[in-house]
Amino acid sequence: MIVGHGLAGTILAHHLHQENIEFQIWNSSPTHFTSSNAAGGIFNPVTGRKLERTWLAKEIFTYLFSFYSALEIKLNDSFFFPMPLFRPFANAEMAKWLLDRRAEIDNEFLDWKSEGVWVNNAGWVDVPHLLQASQLFFKELGVFFEKEFVSGQSDSSNFTHVIFCEGFHGMKNPLWSCLDFLPAKGELLKIQTIQADPSFILNKNGFLLPIGRNAYKVGATYRWDEFGPESTVSGYEELKDKLAQFKVHEYIEIEKMVGIRPATQDRRPFVGMHPEKPFGIFNGFGSKGVSLIPYFANEFIGELQGKKMVHPDASIRRFNHLFSI
Ligand SMILES: Cc1cc2nc3c(=O)[nH]c(=O)nc-3n(C[C@H](O)[C@H](O)[C@H](O)COP(=O)(O)OP(=O)(O)OC[C@H]3O[C@@H](n4cnc5c(N)ncnc54)[C@H](O)[C@@H]3O)c2cc1C
Repeated sequence: MIVGHGLAGTILAHHLHQENIEFQIWNSSPTHFTSSNAAGGIFNPVTGRKLERTWLAKEIFTYLFSFYSALEIKLNDSFFFPMPLFRPFANAEMAKWLLDRRAEIDNEFLDWKSEGVWVNNAGWVDVPHLLQASQLFFKELGVFFEKEFVSGQSDSSNFTHVIFCEGFHGMKNPLWSCLDFLPAKGELLKIQTIQADPSFILNKNGFLLPIGRNAYKVGATYRWDEFGPESTVSGYEELKDKLAQFKVHEYIEIEKMVGIRPATQDRRPFVGMHPEKPFGIFNGFGSKGVSLIPYFANEFIGELQGKKMVHPDASIRRFNHLFSI
């Protein structure tokens, strides 16, 4: 059983289906809101002020491109959009600092210009669309159920494994209470404007992501003190400030979006089976679910089949000493 049909549960289910492993998905959005629907959906192999490669970038980005392309064919739909991403230098000082160190900083994803760097192998996934198309697919297979899993109440005896893909709700599941989640609320604004360039993602202290027909997603905010599903005045103001910095002054607001990133204290996912029980976890993908989830779904299924082991930094084996307390 897979509990949760956010991006994590959905992509894990596609991997099980690929391997002809029988499964059911239980999901309950009315009681547990789905953060994946708020995601910008960006994948970007470069991070931080020093333009470093993201963790395991080579492996993760190679897998990501083949996975989403194949999923589009499988679902006969379109939700994967590779697109150049531009990171302007923050200011003249930063430009000089980075350009002086170009030789030591440079990597295969960067294309240097005088006003900033272009990042290759970036783009975005229309996550809500992927979830919708997948839900339809799994409903037609008869394996999708609108059902809440309640710890200690829901009967899981018909299943060999129950894998929890509950997003930030996982931190309330007593099975995983020893794991250090560090959830981060995020807000995003969908707008329409003709004052931006639709051919690339702009990334400077936030992002401006073109999603077609003069529509853009503007994001995103971070806060760690409150985890409700409502948008906030401060979040809204911050997003409008970002738009001003992107020199977008005339726009129509289409939608406010809110989600909670299931981030973790050590900034690595929680992947694997409980050391003593038939329960597993596939969670903790933080602000990088789009790029991390496909790669680790493949590793997790490989581990369940005895073919490989999940990377030690992502595996919940790193917390085995806590489960036995
Ligand atoms: C504003 C914002 C912007 C973001 N932008 C990006 C981005 O640009 N790129 C990127 O890679 N990531 C981004 N993210 C992060 C990304 O959204 C997450 O990494 C990812 O969506 C997490 O997916 P998930 O499936 O783990 O969790 P969720 O999407 O929260 O899914 C959990 C699911 O489990 C269900 N559920 C939970 N508990 C139960 C239960 N007991 N019984 C039944 N069902 C249950 C819920 O209903 C839900 O459907 C962003 C996040 C936010 C908030």
